Amino acid sequence: MVAESTSLVTRPARAVKSSHHEKLRQLEQTALACRKCPHLVAFRHQVVFGVGNPDAELMFVGEAPGADEDLRGEPFVGRAGELLTRIIQTMGFSRAEVYIANVLKCRPDVPPGKSGNRPPTAEEMATCLPYLREQIALIRPKLMVALGGVAMRGLFGVDQPMKSLRGRWHQFAGIPVMPTFHPSYLLRNQSLTEKRKVWEDMLLVLDRLERPITERQRNFFLAKG
Ligand code: URA
Repeated sequence: MVAESTSLVTRPARAVKSSHHEKLRQLEQTALACRKCPHLVAFRHQVVFGVGNPDAELMFVGEAPGADEDLRGEPFVGRAGELLTRIIQTMGFSRAEVYIANVLKCRPDVPPGKSGNRPPTAEEMATCLPYLREQIALIRPKLMVALGGVAMRGLFGVDQPMKSLRGRWHQFAGIPVMPTFHPSYLLRNQSLTEKRKVWEDMLLVLDRLERPITERQRNFFLAKG
């Protein structure tokens, strides 16, 4: 009897879980075949849908894939990605435990012969946003972190400097969002003060997730002396 009643209780929960995993896979297949932006279709190697745990409580959202991500088919795998991975690990998560995606799923095109990356336009992000919206609706993370001002512009249509956005909660589709500086910004600006600001934002995230915070984590990037 116990086993039977347990299975009656757990089966629907499992069914719901596997159906949202399946819906996420279907959404990925649709996104991988997307041809809404012909200039990006012509330029991309592949669509970079997103990676991680479909049941993640924490989701990171960046702006768009760069050259490395376009080749690998995975978000945040270049230098900025290595830094993001270190931030995630310092928070006490593995990359596989969280979910990582971008507002724009294709690498923004650059003129022939030019290297580097360009930020996505507002129009490109608006065209692609429905994919992210559905991703978020399926994963239902407890919290999200928006990486950089461009991601904030893509999510909210706001064009404000990160310094006035970060450090406080915003809401997207009913989910609290903490904006913080993009890891590329930290690579360009190596000052302890800027690193500490990002870390303070991450402490707010850990706090709201009710994750234990160690003394060492609390004191990261605090100037000694
Ligand atoms: N920057 C982003 O915003 N996203 C990536 O996937 C890589 C770099």
